[in-house]
Amino acid sequence: MTNQYSPDQAIRDIQHFGEEGGVVPVIDVASTSTFLDPKDMERTFMGELQGCYLYSRHSNPTVSIFGQKMAAMEGAEAALGVASGMAAISCAISQLMKDHKNGHIIASQTVYGGTYALFKNILPTQGVNVSFVEMTDLKAIEALITKDTKILYTETLSNPLLTVSDISALSKLAKKHNLKLVVDNTFTPMIVQPLKLGADVVIHSCTKYISGSSDFIAGAICGSKDFINSLIDVNTGMVMLTGPVMDPRVAHELYLRMDHLGIRMKAHSEMAQFLAEKMQNEGMTVIYPGLENHSQYSLFKSMSLQNAGAGGILTLECKTSDEARDLATELQNAKFGYYAVSLGFSRTLMSCSAKSTSSEIPEDERKKMGLSEGLLRFSIGFVGDKHEMWNRFQKCYKKVIK
Ligand code: PLP
Repeated sequence: MTNQYSPDQAIRDIQHFGEEGGVVPVIDVASTSTFLDPKDMERTFMGELQGCYLYSRHSNPTVSIFGQKMAAMEGAEAALGVASGMAAISCAISQLMKDHKNGHIIASQTVYGGTYALFKNILPTQGVNVSFVEMTDLKAIEALITKDTKILYTETLSNPLLTVSDISALSKLAKKHNLKLVVDNTFTPMIVQPLKLGADVVIHSCTKYISGSSDFIAGAICGSKDFINSLIDVNTGMVMLTGPVMDPRVAHELYLRMDHLGIRMKAHSEMAQFLAEKMQNEGMTVIYPGLENHSQYSLFKSMSLQNAGAGGILTLECKTSDEARDLATELQNAKFGYYAVSLGFSRTLMSCSAKSTSSEIPEDERKKMGLSEGLLRFSIGFVGDKHEMWNRFQKCYKKVIK
């Protein structure tokens, strides 16, 4: 995909000044805002007046400017920062389904375990049924569509199998059947822009790459102005009324960190590409979308921004969960990375998906989707010399894997 107006440029073109002309905006921590004319407050509550800061559960100036950078990055009309990635997913879905009794969602069978559990265990209690399907099988998706289907839900790169969703093809299908396409783009900020490929709503867990330091839980929803405004409607907005808002102090930090997100993503990609190629050359079963032997290498490349790389997540197939755990322990002792869930940190994180972030998915379904017990997921960090990191990896691998 060619970059006419890259996310980096779009982020750079967002400027906000501090009160005395500082190059960094101030943090507006006020939970409530003054109205000079009481009638304006009434009109705001009635929905007749837009754009007034009212109360921080509704809107906040610092959270708003963070939203502007997220929107710029994703090529969205608007974006809203929320308290977590799960808040972003649950609020966006509930907002889209709120007027559809007995509504139906078709979701990718390989999604983050928390998303799977929300869809499987919580949404049905709210009258929303979910069918899980292999998202690369367009025929199977179409066969599941009924008059009640309202949403197609997927991840750009699935967690943890790194299956690529063909967003343009899914968008065509969604449009044909008048569905909304919702895409979790947590793994690929600054690499893929799903809205430009036809998605309607993009979700991020900002806990991951947007933060980059594993020190916040945060999320964002990107989409049309109307949709983002609907989330904070005083009578019907899911964020306004269920309340998982982003703290302005967090928004301020993330606002500043987004300026170097592009550089960080390239650094993650470079290190992951290097290590993935080394692993592959040694005959290891490594999955990484930047490797030409990835079954969807060309599709991923065609969806990605120029020279953006393939991101920081790769997986290594070990024979058993014991072997994967032993390798991870050795790697942790050698200071290659931490045995911890999550991703997007400047340092490498490793976890056995089947026993952690995908454990919510029942064993038989994990088997069906090809998620083995021995799969070790790496979120490759960019700190350290790549040759030195490979030496450490190789030593540990040789010691553990017989
Ligand atoms: N989406 C993906 C792809 C994730 O990996 C995660 C968390 O690991 C989430 C959403 C949830 O985000 P959070 O932990 O910020 O609620």
